Amino acid sequence: MTVRVRFAPSPTGYLHVGGARTALYNWLFARSEGGTFLLRSDDTDAERSTPEYAADILDGLRWLGLDWDEGIEVGGPHAPYRQSQRLERYREVASELVAAGRAYWSLADPEALERWRKEARDQGRAPAYDGSLEPPPEEVERRLAAGERATVRFRVPRPGRTEFSDVVRGDMSFEHTQVEDFVILRSNGTPTYHLASTVDDVDFGITHVIRGEDLLSSTPKHILITRAMGAEPPTYAHLSLLMGPDGKKLSKRHGDTAVAAFRAAGYLPEALVNYLALLGWSPGDEETIVSRDEMIRRFDLADVSRNPAIFDMDKLQWMNGVYIRAMTPDEFVDRIMPWIAEDLGREPTAEELRILHEIAPHVQERTKLLAEAADQVRFLLVDEVVYDERSWSKVMKGDAPRALDGAIAALSELDEWTIESIESALRGMLEREGLSARKGLQPIRVAVSGSTVSPPLFESLAALGRRRTLERIRRARDRLTA
Ligand code: GLU
Repeated sequence: MTVRVRFAPSPTGYLHVGGARTALYNWLFARSEGGTFLLRSDDTDAERSTPEYAADILDGLRWLGLDWDEGIEVGGPHAPYRQSQRLERYREVASELVAAGRAYWSLADPEALERWRKEARDQGRAPAYDGSLEPPPEEVERRLAAGERATVRFRVPRPGRTEFSDVVRGDMSFEHTQVEDFVILRSNGTPTYHLASTVDDVDFGITHVIRGEDLLSSTPKHILITRAMGAEPPTYAHLSLLMGPDGKKLSKRHGDTAVAAFRAAGYLPEALVNYLALLGWSPGDEETIVSRDEMIRRFDLADVSRNPAIFDMDKLQWMNGVYIRAMTPDEFVDRIMPWIAEDLGREPTAEELRILHEIAPHVQERTKLLAEAADQVRFLLVDEVVYDERSWSKVMKGDAPRALDGAIAALSELDEWTIESIESALRGMLEREGLSARKGLQPIRVAVSGSTVSPPLFESLAALGRRRTLERIRRARDRLTA
C-alpha cells in the first residue's frame, strides 16, 4: 500500500503554527514512506472563506518548503481538490446514503429537538439525538414533495460502538449512545464538514488521516460514513494540541501565532520546521538541531507523543540563532536582503553591499532574528543617523564631550583604517582622558549608530569608513554644544 496523506486547511483564517505542524507531520510521513502528500481546500464555508486566507496558507506552506504532490494548484488524478467545486458529489453521496437507509431527511421541529436535548441532559443522558422526533415516512414524503427544505442526518446504528486504533492515542472506543444522528447535508444543500471531509478522504484514496486532536470526536462519525460508503476507514493519528508556556491552548494571547508573522519577524523556515518537528516527535536522542533530510530519514508516526506540546518562543528563538550562526556571511547578507531593500526602498549599491558583507560576521554572531539584524545594520546605510533619544540622554552627558573630542583627534590621525588601528587609537584615547570603556565609548557608539545597542563598535567604525565616522562624531559633538 502506498501512503497517501492530506493537509486540508479551511481558508477561514491564516496559517498558524499549529496548522503548519499538522502539515509538516503529514509531509514528513509522506516523504519518509515514499508516499503522496496531498493538499485540498476545505472551502465549503463560503461566507468565512477568503482569497487572502487561501493565499496566505499556500504562501506559508511554500515558504516552509512543504511541497505537495497532488492537490490545489498542482492538480492530479482526482481534481478538483477544492470542496467548493465538489458540492454535487457530496449531494450524490447523501442521496445514496438516504436510498440505502443509512441516512434520512430530517424534519424534526427545531424547538422540539432543543427540548429533547435538554430533557436528556436533565436526566443525565447524552443529548445525542436518535431520530425519535421525526414525523412518519408518509408525512416526510408529502412535505418534501411540497418543497419543504430538510437536512439529511446520518442514522447512527444503536446499540453499537465504533472502535479504532489511533496511531498516537491508542485504542479508542465511542458508544453510539454518545453520538447523535449528525447532519451531513444542510437544508440549503451544502455538506457539513463530516460529509465533505469523509467523501474526499474516500474518493482521494487517503490511507492515513493525521490531524489535530480537536477533531478526535469527529472520527467515529467519519468512520461510520466511510463504512456506509462501502469503503475501509483510513488509519488515524490525532496530534496533541500546542500549548503556551502557561499550559493553556496556544492562542493569540501567547503572541502572534500566524506563520506569516514569524516570517516577518525574521525566523528562518528551516528553523521553524526544525522546531515544529520536535513538538511531539523526537529523533530518539537529545538532538535538537536536525536537518530536513535527517528528519525524513528518521521520522516515524509511531514515535509521535500524545503529551501536549509546549510552544516555547524562547527556545524557537534560540534555535533560529543557531541556524543564523551556521550560515556563511554571504548567505546571511542574502537572507537579510528583503528587509534591507525594503528599508532603502531599492536594492543596495555595490558600496553598501561591501559594507554589509564586512559587518555581517559580527552581526550574525549576536542575532536571533533576521529582522533584528537588519535593524542593527541600518545605521551603516543611511546618510544621516536618527538618534534614539533615550540612548542620547543616557550617554550624552558628563564626560561625553571629552570622549567625542578625544575620538575625533585620535581617529583623524590614523594612517590606516582597520579594526585593529581603530581599537588601539580609541583605547589610547581612553587612557589619555582617564575614561572607562563605558563612559568613553558609549557616546561614540550613539554618535555613529544613533543607539546604545549596535554591532561591536570598532568593527562598525571600520565598516562605516573614516569620513562618515568623523562626520558623525562631529555632528553629535555639535549637537551636544548647541
Ligand atoms: N478543514 C479542517 C480544519 O481546518 C481539517 C479537517 C481534517 O483534517 O479532517 O480543521
